[in-house]
Amino acid sequence: MEARLQEAKDSIRDVIDFPKEGIVFKDITTMLKDEKHLATLVETLYEQYKDKGITKVVGLESRGFILGTVLAYKLNAGFVPIRKPGKLPAATYSEKYTLEYGEDEIHIHQDALNEDDVILLHDDLLATGGTAAASIKLLAKCGVNKAFVNFLVELDFLKGRDKLNTNFEVDSLFHF
Ligand code: AMP
Repeated sequence: MEARLQEAKDSIRDVIDFPKEGIVFKDITTMLKDEKHLATLVETLYEQYKDKGITKVVGLESRGFILGTVLAYKLNAGFVPIRKPGKLPAATYSEKYTLEYGEDEIHIHQDALNEDDVILLHDDLLATGGTAAASIKLLAKCGVNKAFVNFLVELDFLKGRDKLNTNFEVDSLFHF
């Protein structure tokens, strides 16, 4: 990996037992607070997706909003949020997904996307893949035919990628 990307990767902080025992939380705030790393991330992702015809970046609540919006601006695309229940004010499509304990649900505005859009779906981290798999189902409900899926970080040992069950191209900048 290129040196400045490796430096950015190395700046991600492991927080042990957060938010609960047994989880090693990948804290990206230690990377984002450094202006060199922030520039490296944005420039790298911009180069990767600039020729894909992206019309909308869809960011996942909430850490997917951080670079999602910057990338949308850089790619000359719009930004669309996927949010937790009760946050989006107009009519939504929703998807339930299972967590380690219990269920969660995500929403997208029904009029946010259309079949002509080319989507970049972005989140900070792919863990078990539940959130991303539900997001891909939401894209389908919106009529999306073409999308790229991007994560800053993928926890390879959790094999979340296998759960995504999609033909869309999936890529992560950093693997642990
Ligand atoms: P999952 O649905 O299991 O793939 O979880 C993905 C979501 O949970 C992402 O939005 C992450 O921000 C968050 N997440 C899950 N595990 C971790 C972790 N070990 N470190 C940081 N964030 C995590």
